[in-house]
Amino acid sequence: MAATKQRTLGIIGGMSWESTESYYRLINEGVKAKLGGLHSADLLIHSVDFAPINKLQAQGAWNEMGVIMASSGKRLQAAGAQGLLIATNTMHKVVDEMQAATGLPIIHIADVTAAAIKQQDFTKVALLGTQFTMTQDFYKQRLIDAGLQVLIPENDGRAEVHRIIYEELCQGQLLDSSRQYYQQVIQDLANKGAEGVILGCTEIGLLIQQADSPIPVFDTTAIHAAAAVDFLLSH
Ligand code: GLU
Repeated sequence: MAATKQRTLGIIGGMSWESTESYYRLINEGVKAKLGGLHSADLLIHSVDFAPINKLQAQGAWNEMGVIMASSGKRLQAAGAQGLLIATNTMHKVVDEMQAATGLPIIHIADVTAAAIKQQDFTKVALLGTQFTMTQDFYKQRLIDAGLQVLIPENDGRAEVHRIIYEELCQGQLLDSSRQYYQQVIQDLANKGAEGVILGCTEIGLLIQQADSPIPVFDTTAIHAAAAVDFLLSH
């Protein structure tokens, strides 16, 4: 029988709220599956306004975003959070600033995703996400350091994958044409040898499910949420 006492997890959400909603549901479902009955997750959520963050992303103002995210982490800590989860892949770019400000354990989305992939004995994976996530070291290099080979779409494909995230998925728009576009990108990367595909943006799972992909999908939202359940229930 699992212990019913939980730790408290602080979630920084709102980036976008469309995926924070998925996290909230998945984490509660996970706790219920483990503890049963009326049990639900012990969570604190600070949901930020995404529009100003998105503006700062476009300006590359990562120092400023580090300050905002560190302050969000501190607010959650003051409210009783014993660990933190950043409910977006992209904003892990400032995870070190949050770590330094709070000293709390942070469940890193790339680390738990790499572990899930390695459990399947895959070594070569495709990565879809924002331009920041697909191209910058804070994320891609972390996967490489974990022993994975990472394939990303060509220039035009990256731009369109990124556009669909911000102009559609983060605004609750799920279009068949965009699903088909993602499927085509995944197929191209599978043809280049990808054994699986990382849905490396927390809204992609709203558009693409396993049945839509010719290769196994690693949905970072679901993997991250499962790690959150483990955190809540382990002492
Ligand atoms: N939720 C997305 C991600 O996982 C993109 C939005 C953001 O920039 O945080 O990267």
